[in-house]
Amino acid sequence: MCSVEAVECSKSLSRSARGERTKFGHAGHSTHLCHTRAVDFVYMAKILVTCSSCNEDIPLAPEQVCSRICTNNGQAEYRFTCTSCDVIVLKSTTSRMVETLEAAGVEVEMWNLPAELFEHRQGPTLTHEDLLDFHIQLSDDTEVAEAIEQLVN
Ligand SMILES: [Zn+2]
Repeated sequence: MCSVEAVECSKSLSRSARGERTKFGHAGHSTHLCHTRAVDFVYMAKILVTCSSCNEDIPLAPEQVCSRICTNNGQAEYRFTCTSCDVIVLKSTTSRMVETLEAAGVEVEMWNLPAELFEHRQGPTLTHEDLLDFHIQLSDDTEVAEAIEQLVN
């Protein structure tokens, strides 16, 4: 689960009207708000997420969440560190939710799949038996030295 809410913080009016930076505690963390004189109330985004490790519903500030979109396949995800159990949680989501998170102030990263995934591969598929043979060969120093010698020459 992930949702974004605007929380009215009327206590910030006097500080923000003076142009001071205002902090609000959120689950043991603080959030910096923009300064404003034009509005009566300052709204801050509160992002509610559910930790997949401890199953707690956690309210987070936008700075505590990061979202990302893969440029190759459009896969959208967001991640956060759970303030209850300290586990880093990565969840799949929709590009629309990433847009919503970005509008709430969450950083959005664009990333690419590793180039190795697109390399043309040749030769037979590596099997489990191949791996076991290789493991046995690594235990014999003479055989390893001979194999390296063949690679060099
Ligand atoms: Zn947790």
